Amino acid sequence: MVETRLIDGKAFAQTMRARLKGEVAVFTAETGVTPGLAVVLVGEDPASAVYVRNKGRQTVEAGMASFEHRLPANTAQEDVLALVKALNADDDVHGILVQLPLPSHIDTQAVLATIDPAKDVDGFHVVNAGRLAVGLDALVPCTPLGCVMLLKDTLGSLAGLEAVVVGRSNIVGKPLAQLLLREDCTVTIAHSRTRDLPGVCRRADILIGAVGRPEMIRGDWIKPGATVIDVGINRVTGADGKNRLVGDVAFEEAQGIAGAITPVPGGVGPMTIACLLANTLTAARWRVG
Ligand code: NDP
Repeated sequence: MVETRLIDGKAFAQTMRARLKGEVAVFTAETGVTPGLAVVLVGEDPASAVYVRNKGRQTVEAGMASFEHRLPANTAQEDVLALVKALNADDDVHGILVQLPLPSHIDTQAVLATIDPAKDVDGFHVVNAGRLAVGLDALVPCTPLGCVMLLKDTLGSLAGLEAVVVGRSNIVGKPLAQLLLREDCTVTIAHSRTRDLPGVCRRADILIGAVGRPEMIRGDWIKPGATVIDVGINRVTGADGKNRLVGDVAFEEAQGIAGAITPVPGGVGPMTIACLLANTLTAARWRVG
């Protein structure tokens, strides 16, 4: 039986945001430039509206400028593209984030491809994905970046460790695998067609759940002592009829087996916005040269 350590992403993100605030103040004093983040929200998806509100608040708290653009759900694709192009040309805007998911009549890839890669603080543009893949400086997707920060804080060097990433999306699984490779892990990416998923997971020194299925990864899929990062955010209704959030990992079962684990909520989630702010400062620094 292992004593399982809780990886407190909330506290880590708080410390990171405080540090960023100091760095932003120094940057602005030295350059006269206030880093600016523009967030575009199309439609009224309630979860997206909460994310956008939190992003705006934390951007301002960090000493940066926040520009929110809320468009109705029936906005034509060409109008969204026109807004993105205007933001590309706006010198006060260093980072652009288009909140996903977009309404179904809008081609997400077309919108992401229109964002200036130098302002693509979500790191979803193919130029940034490609730069990450070949080992060049890139704006890296925020959630994977946050996961690797938590891992390095927990484990120190990740070199040589077996990492299994369950999930292969462009926004989490694939970029996370690239980042782990950059840290010299031996990386396996698992997905819905993986054979013997429990067996694959049991090989992992670092096990990442990025699936979107409540508590799919069971306790006995975890190698004793492994570090578990749970990216999943799933809303479930408990026996008491109340809604609560759970991850992709059966958290209670992992106790006593995992060496360390992120909780949901309070693990990876808070890191995402902190990394978004970090990327905005990075984009502003690159712009100023
Ligand atoms: P996607 O739906 O885009 O991808 C899910 C991945 O999981 C796919 O690659 C899919 O495989 C794989 N998968 C689905 N079912 C299984 C299965 N039974 N066995 C193995 N693999 C499976 O999700 P995202 O990557 O966007 O998000 C994943 C989770 O992370 C979600 O819960 C989301 O809410 C959360 N999230 C959290 C963030 C945060 O800030 N903490 C930010 C972003 C996401 P295949 O490709 O074969 O279909």
